[in-house]
Amino acid sequence: MTKDNKSFETFTFFGMALDPIHVGTGGTRLGRVDNTIIRDPVTRIPKIPGSSLAGVMRAYVAMRKENEAPDRKINGKPKPYYPDCAGQGGGDSGHCSQADCPVCTVFGFARGMDSDSGFAGLAGFSDMHVLLFPVASQLGPQWITSPMALRQTGIVEFSKLGDLPEQEVIYCKTDKEESVQSSLNLGWLFLPVKTDWNKLDNIIRKISTLCVPDYIVNHLGVVSDKLFAHIVNSNLEVRTSVAIDPATGAAEDKALFTYEALPRGTVLVWELTCRNPRHFKINKNDINDIMAVESPGAVKDVVAEAYPYLEHLGIGGMGSRGMGRLRVLNPSEKEGS
Ligand SMILES: [Zn+2]
Repeated sequence: MTKDNKSFETFTFFGMALDPIHVGTGGTRLGRVDNTIIRDPVTRIPKIPGSSLAGVMRAYVAMRKENEAPDRKINGKPKPYYPDCAGQGGGDSGHCSQADCPVCTVFGFARGMDSDSGFAGLAGFSDMHVLLFPVASQLGPQWITSPMALRQTGIVEFSKLGDLPEQEVIYCKTDKEESVQSSLNLGWLFLPVKTDWNKLDNIIRKISTLCVPDYIVNHLGVVSDKLFAHIVNSNLEVRTSVAIDPATGAAEDKALFTYEALPRGTVLVWELTCRNPRHFKINKNDINDIMAVESPGAVKDVVAEAYPYLEHLGIGGMGSRGMGRLRVLNPSEKEGS
């Protein structure tokens, strides 16, 4: 089979939180926090669901298309990419479902303008997982990861990574000045430092090829999976805010609430699976070939070209409180993995 005939390709992206990010569970109260963030049910590590990412990326691709091609008309009637193809229009202003619409072909549509059939879309988003998590220490911020977090990058080498001995230690490199440090505090937790894990150099080298900034690569530590979950959950941002009454603009009485968030500097990893447009037809009154995109790589490009919007408009809730902006570190990712 030639490369052009692959049924799908997968692309791995890395992003860094420029603000705290809050993707909430919708108001469940956990301990002292009113608005908790979504966690993986097994590992208890916070994550951002792929559906949340797909939702904002759909809107951002539609905004981008609207900027490029304002005043689009279909059959003589105005049919703007945004908000219609973003699915944010009201009334009968739904998805256009056209074979040449990059928003509707890449993200799918509920039903066509002139047919009842829907389309699932060519792009599939994985959940966004925490890869590197920043924690304050006496040596400044350290970015923590674990074998499990590394395996989620989909990088083949990491899939062979064995487990770390279940001791409460951190494996990290220490430079000359830091070599006197035999222990490191991560928040309130003091951990003995070890530098003798033979896979550490390889991990640091690999992370440095992932477009992760040097100041992060140079302050990297690896802990066991169990300890990682513990450290992440003990070092989330918890903020307190006041609910504002929209009618009066004043603080509501007794409306103080707390919410947690992934801290600024968290590095996330996710996969974008792009199906081959040539293997699909859009079923309307007649059967249409998809014209908006030609290959899995072109599907990826439609998504990636809208990644800069994440850096400005963000993901998740509390956007009006300066939260949620995310910089994609490798937006022009070329190779599948
Ligand atoms: Zn459309």
